[in-house]
Amino acid sequence: MALTLPPHPDPLAGRIHRDGLLHDLSYAFGGPFHYLLPERFDANLAAFRAALAEAGVEGRVYYAKKANKAAVFAERCAGTGAGVDVASHGELREALGHGVRGEDLVVTGPAKADRLLRTAALQGSLIAVDSPDELERVLELDAPRPVRVLLRRHPPAQPRSRFGLDGEQLDAALLRCAAAGDRLRMEGFSFHLSGYEVRPRADLAGELVDLCRRARALGLRADRISIGGGFAVDYTAAGHWAAFLAEQGPGHYHADRSFTPGDFYPYHSPVAGADALRAVLAARPGGAGATLAERLREAGVALLLEPGRALLDRAGSSVFRVQGVKDRAGYGIVTVDGTSLSLSEQWFNSEYLPDPALLPAEPAVGESPAGPTGPPTADDGPYRACVGGASCLDSDLLSWRKIAFPRRPRIGDLLVYPNTAGYQMDSNESPFHDLPLPPKVVLHGRGGRLRWRLDQRPAV
Ligand SMILES: *Cc1c(COP(=O)(O)O)cnc(C)c1O
Repeated sequence: MALTLPPHPDPLAGRIHRDGLLHDLSYAFGGPFHYLLPERFDANLAAFRAALAEAGVEGRVYYAKKANKAAVFAERCAGTGAGVDVASHGELREALGHGVRGEDLVVTGPAKADRLLRTAALQGSLIAVDSPDELERVLELDAPRPVRVLLRRHPPAQPRSRFGLDGEQLDAALLRCAAAGDRLRMEGFSFHLSGYEVRPRADLAGELVDLCRRARALGLRADRISIGGGFAVDYTAAGHWAAFLAEQGPGHYHADRSFTPGDFYPYHSPVAGADALRAVLAARPGGAGATLAERLREAGVALLLEPGRALLDRAGSSVFRVQGVKDRAGYGIVTVDGTSLSLSEQWFNSEYLPDPALLPAEPAVGESPAGPTGPPTADDGPYRACVGGASCLDSDLLSWRKIAFPRRPRIGDLLVYPNTAGYQMDSNESPFHDLPLPPKVVLHGRGGRLRWRLDQRPAV
């Protein structure tokens, strides 16, 4: 039995796939590439803002930049007044370079480099302090105005997290902030939880509101909290995901590889994206009393959030060209012109599961209309194949799973992995084998046709 995981239908992606543009781009670049849909990013951002507005909560969305390196998303943040969450000097430089103002940045990550702290302080960015020694380094900065900080809370419900200050450290840090006077502006507290659950986020946010009251009693400003990211993306319908988990086993993968279901991303989430924020705001921290939204309003505390993946939902896909197809007992091996480094999930003991789309080859310029591989033949029945990368590593597979193709793929067909903008695209890409990094193109609908440009325009 073929094991499938169909992504949610996406009419715009369907239109793009029927257009000849992807073939033209594959021909032009001579290798894999990613396409980006910035209007989708805008819509996701607007949905988060709408959820804040509906709940009557003051708030601010910061795009977690690590989820995708493309310039266009930072440009959209600058253009729409959204903030950006950066965790390295490079990310900070990129965000500033694309027009995001320093004061609209929040700087996260553990034990930040000195020059990251220094630049952030000079730019008036908000620094999420992760540890007591980092707070000391912040206090030693020679900044022309008070350095804006949040104190990051170690999550009591995730005791193994390596991030944040525990209860005792927070108490000490608050006194330290209070004694620092004008050198510091303590604006509140933050956390970022792994996983995608609503309840722990609401619970910890409730605690942070109480912490703001305590901090204010010490004379600190403490008028905002950040609840980090971790708003789920819903890639597929509940039924597809349940069936996938129930059926999947080693026989469905190349080399009988076995995957631990718990290592898969939860490809279906009943509450995702901006709806997850709605649910957090409507939840009652601790299980009783006022909702989080009510507590924020009552305390005059603003809610910051740092979604990465959820802002990128359906905002991009990855396109590979079939370079070879060979048969094995009972299935095939398709080899494409890129590597599994362009699908990061493969490097976490896991697999990116939404089914790729197979777009039939178009004859290349100068070739006979039938193309290099001849006319369609008896290949035309369903065909299962794993998808390998163009490297010399046996474990370089984009899909270990034997994907259920409608027919045997042919050289020159394109394989489009859907919805890859959030973390899949470029987190792990490298020029391995001296293969060039896949370029990114930005697509816009314009009247009846698609326009494209490079994400990174050539330097002038
Ligand atoms: C990674 C990260 C995020 C973004 O997480 P998503 O799951 O992509 O929403 C936000 N804040 C911090 C501090 C992070 O480390």
